[in-house]
Amino acid sequence: MNSFCQKAHWKFRRMNEMEANQFREFGKEMIDYVAGYLENIRDRRVLPTVEPGYLRPLIPETAPEKPDKWEDIMKDIERVVMPGVTHWHSPRFHAYYPTANSYPAIVADILSGAIACIGFTWISSPACTELEVVMMDWLGKMLALPEPFLACSGGKGGGVIQGTASEATLVALLGAKARAICTGKAEHPEMSDADIVAKLVGYTSSQSHSSVERAGLLGGIKLRSLQPDDSNKLTGEILEKAVQEDIEAGLIPFYAVCTLGTTSSCTFDNLEEMGPVCNQYNIWLHIDAAYAGSAFICPEYRYLMKGIERADSFNFNPHKWLLINFDCSAMWLKDPSWLVNAFNVDPLYLKHEQQGSAPDYRHWQIPLGRRFRALKIWFVLRLYGIENLQAHIRKQIAMAHHFEALVRSDERFEITQEVTMGLVCFRLTGSNEMNEQFLKRLNGKGVIHLVPSKIRDTYFLRLAICSKQTEMSDIDVSWKEVKETADEILAKK
Ligand SMILES: *Cc1c(COP(=O)(O)O)cnc(C)c1O
Repeated sequence: MNSFCQKAHWKFRRMNEMEANQFREFGKEMIDYVAGYLENIRDRRVLPTVEPGYLRPLIPETAPEKPDKWEDIMKDIERVVMPGVTHWHSPRFHAYYPTANSYPAIVADILSGAIACIGFTWISSPACTELEVVMMDWLGKMLALPEPFLACSGGKGGGVIQGTASEATLVALLGAKARAICTGKAEHPEMSDADIVAKLVGYTSSQSHSSVERAGLLGGIKLRSLQPDDSNKLTGEILEKAVQEDIEAGLIPFYAVCTLGTTSSCTFDNLEEMGPVCNQYNIWLHIDAAYAGSAFICPEYRYLMKGIERADSFNFNPHKWLLINFDCSAMWLKDPSWLVNAFNVDPLYLKHEQQGSAPDYRHWQIPLGRRFRALKIWFVLRLYGIENLQAHIRKQIAMAHHFEALVRSDERFEITQEVTMGLVCFRLTGSNEMNEQFLKRLNGKGVIHLVPSKIRDTYFLRLAICSKQTEMSDIDVSWKEVKETADEILAKK
């Protein structure tokens, strides 16, 4: 080593030692900051008031040549970051759907960050794969998923943690495509892969999440968006009619998505009817229960997943409603071999001797790299126990019903969809324009935050119970805001 190298070498070694000590100190300080932030989040304005481009002038134009001080970075959290944060974990945040957050999951993520493995094969970090296999069985049992989905059943089935529900929908579609090509070729040996793919057609509801349509685009197949029935549910009859039309037109139906808890209004497609149709026509049935799936840990809500045994794949987001921080989307497949075979490329540097004895999860997903996400499932399930997680779901649903009752008690309003989970869809009785004005004014005050939706030309507001910290008294605050804003809007008229 020349002396320059030697010096750099020692400098780095010293830096590593110093960093470890500083990490202990800074880490503790950050944990205090995080706990304080979440404890007092109610007091912050839920929506920021900044204008686009607010941030650039607040920080230097280039990265620092010499290290900055930790204290300065801590100060910049409140100066630079917080003014531009939408506080998703404020009890005043009612937009979209919840995104999960809990201390056990945050702590597990610290550990995952420290291990920082990339668990694409079993040998790349056996604990990463093996804990995931077992956690997906734990979760599957909590939801009472049928045995064929679970790895512990000894069959082909098993679970995998995807980054998002969107990825799960795409992965299921690609598995279905591989299966359809395989059966298509067995029945018509004269047809090429491309001939078959050109004939494939899948089905979804016009009420399903935008990621479903996107999966069709990314997967390069035709996906029909079917009009659901009057109560916004996709039914067996609607599906079968479309399937028969397509068969008559010489197409090959191969994939259908059933949504349990739509994003717009938390409506449940008729799974019990869709299942037999899919089975009869050899259509891969994927269930997207991104939000509502968490509720199936409570036996009293499992009636909403009746018929699940007929599905090929099932997905829900613990990162929405089960207190496990993003990203954690749980997916189960009855026969993952369709994916494994479709996605299998095996360069020498990824081969290992234990191949086949445990899943190599790289074949179950789009990317190669994957974080150690099973840790946060493990920590959350152990530190809360099933009991407290059920209590969380039940409490949030009860609060939605509380808000529903308040809305119903005021005749100026109407409830537009049956409330089953933690979402209340409502509107002022009157025109869409008036409701648009109403929401604009409501959000403009910055006390609470909601987003709208529209079904069949009826514009409505969605109030989702999002924060883990939400109490009945918070719902009363939100209702007071809604009511007072309605007073103002109606007085103006
Ligand atoms: C939220 C949601 C999604 C998208 O979830 P990601 O994990 O962000 O991809 C998909 N489907 C439904 C029904 C949803 O509510």
